[in-house]
Amino acid sequence: MAHIVIMGAGIGGMPAAYEMRATLPAEHRITVVSAVDYFQFTPSNPWVAVGWRDRESITLPIAPLLEKKGIAFIAKPVTIIDAEANQLTLKDGQTVDYDYLVITTGPKLFFDEVPGSGPHGGHTHSVCTVDHALGFFKDYEEFLKYPGTVVIGAMPFASCFCPAY
Ligand SMILES: Cc1cc2nc3c(=O)[nH]c(=O)nc-3n(C[C@H](O)[C@H](O)[C@H](O)COP(=O)(O)OP(=O)(O)OC[C@H]3O[C@@H](n4cnc5c(N)ncnc54)[C@H](O)[C@@H]3O)c2cc1C
Repeated sequence: MAHIVIMGAGIGGMPAAYEMRATLPAEHRITVVSAVDYFQFTPSNPWVAVGWRDRESITLPIAPLLEKKGIAFIAKPVTIIDAEANQLTLKDGQTVDYDYLVITTGPKLFFDEVPGSGPHGGHTHSVCTVDHALGFFKDYEEFLKYPGTVVIGAMPFASCFCPAY
């Protein structure tokens, strides 16, 4: 019996968990470990940013979705991967042993690369996460009261330019 752990429950992690459950014999355990307890459909964030969707319509609580398929779920960030020991350490110190690890943690956002950028203390907005998009919408509503020029762009090293357009 193997224990497969999938790190991250986004667009890569959720299908990986479902497909492994459907493919592997039942004696193998699958656990998904993700930093937050909800799935967000990232490509819809620009709609949240302009008020065409709200948070509830583009996010889903993960636990019930995975549990009904017999997949365990832990909603905590991973802080250490000990590949030699086949073990993860989570933010609260809990450890999770695995036989196989699938890493689907998405991008590390690079706001530090451009001084003054970023939604937390910077001077730009982002649609990279649903929380960023909600912050965008709050300021967008203010902007609409006194419209002016908006600059839309993608940061150095951005791999996905389409959402900006
Ligand atoms: C606005 C926008 C629009 C897009 N539109 C499209 C599109 O139309 N078509 C397209 O193909 N792609 C699109 N993309 C790109 C697409 O969203 C990403 O390629 C995709 O989400 C990446 O999937 P992923 O599973 O690797 O990461 P994500 O979907 O980002 O998921 C990462 C997961 O890992 C978790 N995680 C991160 N760090 C840790 C940690 N330390 N411990 C535990 N869990 C962790 C997160 O909580 C999350 O659950 C868009 C991206 C953006 C920002």
